Amino acid sequence: MSIASAAARTPRAPQVPLVSLDYLWFQVAGTVCNLRCTHCFISCAPDNHSFWFLDLPTVLDYLERSRAWGVKEYYFTGGEPFMNKELLPMLEATLAVGPASVLTNATLLPERTVRRLAEIEAGSRYSLELRVSLDGPSPETNDPIRGEGTFERAMEGVGRLVEHGFLPIITAAQVWCPHEDEAVLDRFYASCRKVRYERPRIKILPSIHLGREVLRSRGYDDSEIVTAEMMEGHDLTTLLCSSGRVVTNRGVYVCPILIDDEGANLGDSLEAADRPFEIDRSACYTCWLHGAICTNTGHLGGEA
Ligand code: SF4
Ligand code: SF4
Repeated sequence: MSIASAAARTPRAPQVPLVSLDYLWFQVAGTVCNLRCTHCFISCAPDNHSFWFLDLPTVLDYLERSRAWGVKEYYFTGGEPFMNKELLPMLEATLAVGPASVLTNATLLPERTVRRLAEIEAGSRYSLELRVSLDGPSPETNDPIRGEGTFERAMEGVGRLVEHGFLPIITAAQVWCPHEDEAVLDRFYASCRKVRYERPRIKILPSIHLGREVLRSRGYDDSEIVTAEMMEGHDLTTLLCSSGRVVTNRGVYVCPILIDDEGANLGDSLEAADRPFEIDRSACYTCWLHGAICTNTGHLGGEA
């Protein structure tokens, strides 16, 4: 077979350009987390130090540089962001520049922290969103995945946030059968009402079959890839890599889903990371199928 005919038969993986840098993520806690959830797709844990904390000067530097890019929203993730002792000053500095969202397991939210979050938000013209991850509407469904006592602790955190005027987005990985969605949502609403969260916002997320989730459920199979044909007419904006990048202590990666993939490390600056990315990873298939996994919009359950 000639080289030319072999090339013609090899399907080219689609490239996704960075259309605009609307979302800048900070992996502020690296892969360090106080929990060890059985479905964590980047296998975070107290002893996973593959990625380390970002420090305040680094975040301030990227915030300053991000102004020229017209970033619309900043996201803080980990690991567990509240394990980073500098998170509150980071948020205060961010809210002087634009809206911010924190993805948290809500188990490290004592009264003094939530009070300070509320003060920071009140002093800003931009909004501060908290996204709280849970994996079931009760201790019986959540705790086998997140750890004993985590449901109660997280709901206490949610209650404190609500008391201080926040409307946290509850995000849940769909670890149940899709036909149970409605019943599970009803139970989430009921649990939220117990902590006086009357009209909860709930976002159901698909499982990403990487990291520990491979052991809990399954890995991807060979058919789960995105081809050029699949991208014809597909709305690029549903893929975070067209509008965002994530800053880690090891460089700027294409998205928060692929930080365990060194090929997704695009360099040491926003400028270096401004290049197309070949979406040939199996996790990209989940993005293609479901879209808007990472941002605050999409897949939100209706308010009860
Ligand atoms: S899923 Fe979230 S809370 Fe659980 S181990 Fe991973 S980073 Fe921590
Ligand atoms: S995992 Fe999703 S956001 Fe990340 S590069 Fe693939 S398609 Fe883009």
